[in-house]
Amino acid sequence: MPIAVAVVAPVSLAFDITKDSLQFRLVGTVRTTLEMPCSRCLEPFIMPVEQAFDLRYQPHAKNTGEGEREIEEDDLTTAFYENDEIDLGQLMREQFYLALPMKPLCRDDCQGLCVVCGTNLNKGTCTCKREWDDPRLAALKKLKAES
Ligand SMILES: [Zn+2]
Ligand SMILES: [Zn+2]
Repeated sequence: MPIAVAVVAPVSLAFDITKDSLQFRLVGTVRTTLEMPCSRCLEPFIMPVEQAFDLRYQPHAKNTGEGEREIEEDDLTTAFYENDEIDLGQLMREQFYLALPMKPLCRDDCQGLCVVCGTNLNKGTCTCKREWDDPRLAALKKLKAES
């Protein structure tokens, strides 16, 4: 399920760029604040993000041949550029995506929602009975009734 993530603060992008023949290397950090819904209580919350990257950019290969295979070994950190342009917007989106937690939580001890009535248990309580009858206790009750 894709989560709706919004960028809620100005993005700061700082990097060093080095060029080695036709390959660029970008080493830097991107910082911002993201807003996303908590996976437990569904309330939006904000999370500061600081993501370091070390990326290589190769010119987009027009002839696929030997070169392609070399790149595959390292394809997590290798991207392509076209027309002498590196797409920094794309770079930032990818870094934000990498920075996202698997299970975003508004706080570690988020109480989530009541499964019965949907009350946000961080904000209030409800009177739903969320316990279950322990079958061992049920057996004991029965025993008592029979004796
Ligand atoms: Zn939450
Ligand atoms: Zn409830």
